[in-house]
Amino acid sequence: MALIVQKYGGTSVGTVERIQAVAQRVYKTVNAGNSVIVVVSAMGKTTDGLVKIAKEISRNPNCREMDMLLSTGEQVTIALVSMALQEIGQPAISMTGAQVGILTEAEHTRARILHIETERLNHHISQGKVVVVAGFQGISSIRDMEITTLGRGGSDTSAVAIAAATGANFCEIYTDVPGILTTDPRLVAEAKLMDEITCNEMLELASLGAKVLHPRAVEIARNYGVPLVVRSSWTNEPGTWVTSPKPQGRSLVNLEIARPVDNVEFDTDQAKVALLRVPDKPGVAARLFGEISRQSVDVDLIIQSIHEANSNDIAFTVTTPILKRAEAVASAIAPALRNQSQPNSDEAEVIVEENIAKVSIAGAGMIGRPGVAAKMFATLAEAEVNIQMISTSEVKVSCVVDAAECDRAVVALRKAFEIEEDEGQKDKGQIVPSSSPTPPVRGVALDINQARLAIRQVPDRPGMAAKLFGLLARHNISVDMIIQSQRCRVVDGIPKRDIAFTVSRIDGETTQQMLTQVAGELGWGEVVLDNAIAKVSIVGAGMVGQPGIAARMFEALAQHQINIQMIATSEIKISCVVAQEQGVQALQVIHAAFGLAGSEKFVMPA
Ligand code: ASP
Ligand code: MG
Repeated sequence: MALIVQKYGGTSVGTVERIQAVAQRVYKTVNAGNSVIVVVSAMGKTTDGLVKIAKEISRNPNCREMDMLLSTGEQVTIALVSMALQEIGQPAISMTGAQVGILTEAEHTRARILHIETERLNHHISQGKVVVVAGFQGISSIRDMEITTLGRGGSDTSAVAIAAATGANFCEIYTDVPGILTTDPRLVAEAKLMDEITCNEMLELASLGAKVLHPRAVEIARNYGVPLVVRSSWTNEPGTWVTSPKPQGRSLVNLEIARPVDNVEFDTDQAKVALLRVPDKPGVAARLFGEISRQSVDVDLIIQSIHEANSNDIAFTVTTPILKRAEAVASAIAPALRNQSQPNSDEAEVIVEENIAKVSIAGAGMIGRPGVAAKMFATLAEAEVNIQMISTSEVKVSCVVDAAECDRAVVALRKAFEIEEDEGQKDKGQIVPSSSPTPPVRGVALDINQARLAIRQVPDRPGMAAKLFGLLARHNISVDMIIQSQRCRVVDGIPKRDIAFTVSRIDGETTQQMLTQVAGELGWGEVVLDNAIAKVSIVGAGMVGQPGIAARMFEALAQHQINIQMIATSEIKISCVVAQEQGVQALQVIHAAFGLAGSEKFVMPA
């Protein structure tokens, strides 16, 4: 007998008929010998309706009263679902977040879950009842009993947190789509349903705009190893499993806020190859990495910085044993690139750096918590470690540093993030158990709500990334795709590099103003903003150790004359910035290039 948490979203409980269908499904699950906790959203668009009424009364409604108001939506559903169950002979009881004991931060409208009491839940279950719990809500503390909500879309998070707290066997998320698709079907008609995806991959896709699951729900699933399945409540199709290995002994106290970083990793077996001043036009990256993959050289991180004066820098890391081969390819290709561009321009040049190491912090939801990367950079700055390359993703932030400074960096990071020494290596190389072989690329995403910022001539010394990203983190601005130019220009005796990164478009102008204000004092040059960009990304845990994945992506873009402005990679993601008007086409050609197309057409509900 299993304990199953079933979560039903707004459309799945939108009408009396839908609620009755939910009751039937729950009843069947119980009759198959399981215990069931049901977590529900508000009916249909109820929450939107409540927000609208509030806005008619107050332009800026009080947050406490907003929570009081919005939490009523779920309360309607729990009562109706319980009645529907009782009506078909299934004992059931409804419970609010407060009645269960879902304790949260005292942050109205965006509280994170701290702890869930299981006593009352277990009591009712042991009496053979289905417990129907209101999602999206909790209370700030037993003493204050203030009603809080988790933020819009938060009932997924309630469900997975309840599954983690009760040790449920798995959590089913019922929705109005068949599961998780390889990309947005409104942009790519051939989008295909996935059978399975890892939590880490899902976190990357979610932060790139895939909206099926609340990202905080996936973070909890990853951190506590709760198996999830996303399915349609209209059919009996199996849906998409979202899986992750079960970590040992994570405490259920401070459930959503404890330990954003659970690992510090390092790799000293790294070398860097940089090509400076390659022409800024479609096909260059494709040519370089196409040739590299034909030589079976597996590259790790790749970055391409934004161009100055019609030329780009591309840098990548490889493991030391294959450095010679990588260098040979780069050197062979450099003159060819040069001839094709302006013959008079500065010559393309290959630089090799052998004594480097990669240090990384791993955890869940790091782009969404800008303070975490900022803390990593500050820690390295304090240890006087200079950062040569930065790679960011939702599940990992890596910095390339001088090999001689690696030990110092690792010790400092372990201390800062409270990671025991042996803990760090424990999970290394752990493979997620999977029924089917992992495809290198699981999904493709397009983000058209980004802006690119570049700061010219930032002094190349420890602490600059820390200052920059510390400032942004204090304003809660999330940064993605951080790239330092490889080219170093000496100005007045000080070596300087450009730093470019992307932020949400809504943060673009404030960020530019903020950075311009401090630029003088920190010795930086101009801060440039470009809003007309799009970011396309491929995500897949299986791309590690598979040469040629990046090349295939770049080749697809080159074939369609799409110029790549920036490239940034992490272990499970490759992102390219392209011109905004080419974004959708870029998404389509990349999706096709990885053979992700399916035959079934999915019509997304509005
Ligand atoms: N009812 C809430 C909302 O619409 C929570 C949820 O549906 O997940 O945001
Ligand atoms: Mg909803």
